[in-house]
Amino acid sequence: MRLNHWIDGTARPPASDRWLEVFAPATASAYAEVASGDGDDVDAAVAAAEAAFADWSGLPNSARARWLERLAQALEEHADDFARAESRDAGKPIRLARDIEIPRAVANLRFFAQAATQFASESHHGETGLNYTLRRPLGVVATISPWNLPLYLFTWKIAPALAAGNTVVAKPSEVTPVSATMLAELAAGIGFPSGVLNLVHGLGPEVGEALVSHRSVKAVSFTGSTAVGRRIAGIAGPQLKKVSLELGGKNPTLVFADSAWEDHLDTLARSAFQNSGQICLCGSRMLVERRIYHAFRDALVERALSLQVGDPVDPDTDMGPLVSQAHFDKVTAALRRARDEGGQVHCGGSAIDRPGWFVAPTVIDGLGPDCATNREEIFGPVVTLQPFDDEHEALALANASDYGLAASVWTRDLDRAHRVAAALRCGMVWINTWLMRDLRTPFGGMEASGLGREGGMEAMRFFTEARNIGLLLDPSPR
Ligand code: NAD
Repeated sequence: MRLNHWIDGTARPPASDRWLEVFAPATASAYAEVASGDGDDVDAAVAAAEAAFADWSGLPNSARARWLERLAQALEEHADDFARAESRDAGKPIRLARDIEIPRAVANLRFFAQAATQFASESHHGETGLNYTLRRPLGVVATISPWNLPLYLFTWKIAPALAAGNTVVAKPSEVTPVSATMLAELAAGIGFPSGVLNLVHGLGPEVGEALVSHRSVKAVSFTGSTAVGRRIAGIAGPQLKKVSLELGGKNPTLVFADSAWEDHLDTLARSAFQNSGQICLCGSRMLVERRIYHAFRDALVERALSLQVGDPVDPDTDMGPLVSQAHFDKVTAALRRARDEGGQVHCGGSAIDRPGWFVAPTVIDGLGPDCATNREEIFGPVVTLQPFDDEHEALALANASDYGLAASVWTRDLDRAHRVAAALRCGMVWINTWLMRDLRTPFGGMEASGLGREGGMEAMRFFTEARNIGLLLDPSPR
């Protein structure tokens, strides 16, 4: 199977005729090739997007909404094919792809179809004047997305960009290029206007940087690592180009002794191990009140050991492999470092001896807040535990991070829950739950976790420019 770019509504091989291998993580074997794009492909895609902009942005919002709705409908009809493809490409359990991620991709398209119809200009009537603010699309925008939730995050970006009237050049991760290609093909199949949604595959430094630096690209919406986010900000900054950066995390989970933690153990374990810990929102540092520390640790270890790790296409599988050889190497190196730092491994701690990039669910403790294991994002099925004595210490540990993406707080004390939530330095906090998302709410992190917010009208604002118009109202009769 060869995966082409999609430019101007048609499949296009790379100008250079270079291809990259695509691997199935569960077997570590190559099963497809994807176009390895370069600046020439980016130029062609941006030109197609520029040519399509006038017509697309000139459509009434309701007409763009209908296109997104049609795409959502087509995706829903092919949801099973997409779920299977995503499961194979990213190594994620089929259950996760079928029950959560593909439905969420459909929901993203539908949600922003609705948002397009609700996104109205604002007006302010003053004593002597009327101000109204037009929101206009930017032009050609770039979206760059990662491999961990491939179609979910791809649609999370293209949907608001298109709904707001922009045309898009999207670069999915070269590690998981299949579902985005299938979606572009689906869009062409339903007659989506050509040039509105373009896809350029390839490596970040070649395709991603060419997109970010392209003069005709007016904004970049990026989700990925903090290191690459910094690099993108460095390129976009001098051009004063709009950027939205959704980056890494080292999210704390604060478990107080008065919480119903035993009842929530499933969710707590999921918060650490879902998608093999390869979700930016996973809780990778669990902070547990000392009174329940040992009981909690034992229960979590037991739960981790009960997870069924194996073939992602098996509906009973809870956890699949890591996504790539490079990522497997990174996670296993982090496990070695945790041991070198003095960490005690209570379960897992190493690769699983079978084909594919499998790492066992791992629980580590005995490490302080300053060690690399507790500071750096590992992005694997690895969670550390640290005890605390009181709320003050819990907060100090939680906030001892360069990141500030998400946190969860587990307590029955409502006053404490809100006090702690407000004092946590991060973009999102869940109380007695994890990863509860309402697409209308702001999504994003602070400091090393990023810049800007996605979700709801935040995304629509990012993908538009506000233009204010003031009009003097003369009160004297004529
Ligand atoms: P990555 O930064 O390596 O790659 C992300 C995307 O950027 C890919 O498409 C890649 O090809 C591209 N890229 C790489 N180098 C580039 C460059 N120099 N210029 C432009 N583009 C470039 O990230 P990844 O390994 O694919 O994803 C994992 C990371 O993503 C983790 O750090 C995770 O926390 C983060 N993430 C964050 C969120 C969030 O919403 N905050 C969501 C999912 C993943």
